[in-house]
Amino acid sequence: MSALTATPINVEQIRAQFPVLHQLVNGKPLVYFDNAATNQKPKRVIDALAHYYEHDNANIHRGIHTLAERATKAYEATRLAMQAFINAKHTEEIIFTRGVTESINLVAASYGKAFLNEGDEVIISGLEHHSNIVPWQLICEERKAVIKVIPVTDAGELDMDAYRKVLSSKTKVVAVNHASNSLGTINPVKEIIKLAHQSGAVVLIDGAQASAHLHIDVQELDCDFYCISSHKMYGPTGTGILYGKKALLEKMPPYMGGGEMIKDVTFAKTTYNDLPYKFEAGTPNIADVIALSEAVAFINELGKDTIAAYEQELLVYASEKLAGIKGVRLIGTAKEKVSVQSFVIDGIHHFDIGQMLDARGIAVRTGHHCTQPLMDRFGIEGTVRASFSIYNTKAEIDQLAEGVERIVNFMK
Ligand code: PMP
Repeated sequence: MSALTATPINVEQIRAQFPVLHQLVNGKPLVYFDNAATNQKPKRVIDALAHYYEHDNANIHRGIHTLAERATKAYEATRLAMQAFINAKHTEEIIFTRGVTESINLVAASYGKAFLNEGDEVIISGLEHHSNIVPWQLICEERKAVIKVIPVTDAGELDMDAYRKVLSSKTKVVAVNHASNSLGTINPVKEIIKLAHQSGAVVLIDGAQASAHLHIDVQELDCDFYCISSHKMYGPTGTGILYGKKALLEKMPPYMGGGEMIKDVTFAKTTYNDLPYKFEAGTPNIADVIALSEAVAFINELGKDTIAAYEQELLVYASEKLAGIKGVRLIGTAKEKVSVQSFVIDGIHHFDIGQMLDARGIAVRTGHHCTQPLMDRFGIEGTVRASFSIYNTKAEIDQLAEGVERIVNFMK
């Protein structure tokens, strides 16, 4: 982290921007450590939603009246903001979806339908969220293609030698996450993409856990598809983007049919709209897309280096504290991680730990985190996961550690 040009942050000033943080839960000040599931929203995002509905609400693209023009302009402004956020070459490479799950389903269904054939292989990894497993199972079953899985090491890193071995001329798609939601592992995606391209495969990156923490430059990565969720980057739920290289998106058939994705419809034949609208059927989530611009501005104003450096400080602090508690076993000890720490306490069920922490106002995630195969890999049913954001503090981590220690002592 020493290479980061981080400026010191004023956490209190940041916390003041998040109304939800200032409440008591079960009589205790809320400590929100479930940021990998969804992070909280700054006031400017919430205000943008209200502003849209109070002043500009109209359906976009089709109307010529003033409100429709205002709404369309604001909606398209977010497309430009997201283009800049990930450094995409063309604006039409940014497609609005409901989030990462829909983005992956879109690619699997559309690209898969056009380009996957019997015996072809799709490589995913043992670190994947169900959202980057099931869509590939669905299309592979339909196209009689085969899924191969990159194994995970004991530290929670991808076994890159195994990846090199499994790649072949049969590989048509490689789909992996940029960072793991369960373990926090940051994957060497640039290397994964380079190797996949040498085998002639296209690469989809699930960026759900990266967008709030890591620099994303899709041109530098040279990925073919990149998926982002608004709700994991301080934006509203129910929206996100799919980035795709223009040349590929142009060759792919539509995912859904309906309004906006057409140029011309007769009962005999429909011609499809140009990118990105070809993939945006129906009235989209206009308000939330518009408010996403404010989330992007929030991140940009703080700076990714500053965010990453502070979150790393929290991660290291939390991992050391938790590891120091007798009976706690950390799950996920990769060298490169985003601010996620999973752990188990042998003999105490993770749900019980979660419930007892909640009684102390501390929100953590418990369970398999939609990564059941990964839990199987570690021979566990689930973990307790604490994930940290820019508004969290070391004092809150002290509370977590104290809570965990008390639970261990209480259950002994
Ligand atoms: N992939 C990963 C790594 C995730 O963490 C999540 C959300 N938990 C998803 C995919 C699904 O994203 P969304 O909620 O946008 O559908």
